[in-house]
Amino acid sequence: MAPGGSNYQDIGDSRSAYSDYGIAPESAEFKNSPFRKAAAVIGGKNGVGSNSAVHELLECPVCMNPMYPPIHQCPNGHTLCVKCKSKVHVCPICRHELGNIRCLALEKIAESLELPCRYQIYGCQDIFTYHTRLRHEQNCRFRPYNCPYAGSECAVTGDIQYLVAHLKDDHKVDMHDGCTFNHRYVKSNPQEVENATWMLTVFNCFGHQFCLHFEAFNLGLAPVYMAFLRFMGDDDDAKRFSYSLEVGGFGRKLTWQGVPRSIRDSHKTVRDSLDGLIIQRSMALFFSGGDRKELKLKVAGRIWREPL
Ligand SMILES: [Zn+2]
Ligand SMILES: [Zn+2]
Ligand SMILES: [Zn+2]
Ligand SMILES: [Zn+2]
Repeated sequence: MAPGGSNYQDIGDSRSAYSDYGIAPESAEFKNSPFRKAAAVIGGKNGVGSNSAVHELLECPVCMNPMYPPIHQCPNGHTLCVKCKSKVHVCPICRHELGNIRCLALEKIAESLELPCRYQIYGCQDIFTYHTRLRHEQNCRFRPYNCPYAGSECAVTGDIQYLVAHLKDDHKVDMHDGCTFNHRYVKSNPQEVENATWMLTVFNCFGHQFCLHFEAFNLGLAPVYMAFLRFMGDDDDAKRFSYSLEVGGFGRKLTWQGVPRSIRDSHKTVRDSLDGLIIQRSMALFFSGGDRKELKLKVAGRIWREPL
């Protein structure tokens, strides 16, 4: 079989044959069929875009998600996924009663496909079978990150470079270069402790970005402040760094040493795990000095790379 475009044509032909459901190939026969080879070539070398014929064939016409075995069909051959099948009694396309008919040919096609990861455009080079692909994609290290901004729910996702620009342009986040910092947090009414979130600060250091979070919440009944660092990258890389935070005044000092958490962990997850510097409000007000009406905290920090 010639490589390239002519293979693609083969798929188109096979498709119409299978969708008639007149042919249900035996598995051994099918394994050597031209279809399988064509699918593997397309999947392995050229990548399967969402528009490819095979992909369309395996797309549920109701919910548009890829179908996985068991795949069902109506007596007229219209296929649909198992989830949609459980929701309807008649075929959404021809209104015929559905019954309980499996589409084994399509199931075999689904199982035989070798497909690139959907995050190929982000750099993932791996090839998977239809089933393992789904599992891989949930943990693919190339999958886009969620925006780390904590002040509001933000639906933006992307790679790190994209998110850094997004934080700067859309959230007006302060960006600082350097691995040591001195950050001042001021709030005129510290009694308003319920779930206040301060503006995020991002530090550029060692060629990576680190998000410094500072927020106020109630830990049980006790109002506290918490500062912690998140790493803009995966967990494996985050673990190569450590950081320290320090806050104090009037002869007292609290220090924290920790490991930055990957932004794969949501800011709330990190907060709820208390993996950071926690300052009781009364102590924070003591550090602030004055009449305890204003919060004035100076948080000093340092980020360093752990020896491999
Ligand atoms: Zn469906
Ligand atoms: Zn139908
Ligand atoms: Zn991947
Ligand atoms: Zn955002």
